[in-house]
Amino acid sequence: MKILDGLKWKLASSGRGATVIKGVVLHWTASKTLSSALSWMSTARKGSYHYVIDVDGVVTKCVPTSRKAWHTGRDGKRANLCPKDEGVAEGIANEVSIGISFVNPGDKTPLTSPQIEAVKTLVDMLKHSLPTLQWITTHHECCPSARPTELLMEYTQWDWKIASQWSGLKVWTRPKNLG
Ligand SMILES: [Zn+2]
Repeated sequence: MKILDGLKWKLASSGRGATVIKGVVLHWTASKTLSSALSWMSTARKGSYHYVIDVDGVVTKCVPTSRKAWHTGRDGKRANLCPKDEGVAEGIANEVSIGISFVNPGDKTPLTSPQIEAVKTLVDMLKHSLPTLQWITTHHECCPSARPTELLMEYTQWDWKIASQWSGLKVWTRPKNLG
């Protein structure tokens, strides 16, 4: 797996304090190109990821995993949930997660095979460096009202059944009673 250093993240990260990293949140960039995703991170719009996976499978490393990236938002009561231990939701997904984004326009273009291979390798690498990792989910599951289609199967061919096998992590989907 090829990993490049991305330098345009500094406006949108903060320290984690003593927080334990427990999960991975997957995203799409809603852009066609890596450069537009990276330039978005360099603006004052306050968004960032730890890793961005280009359509050719090349990974760009952005925010260091020791810092908190701002990838799931904090806007509103229903936003930004993630599992707390055994499936109980809490509202601090950014605090406890690694944000990985696929370059994908969000227009029903499928993820590419190199992207799928790269995320498998990347998650495996993260499991070794961060043994506290327990779960994997998508931005849609963290806040479906704000992200109604992000990485859904019918938009990207993203298949959770397969992901639960290769990741070795618990796949978290949002409990229906959380709205
Ligand atoms: Zn997202």
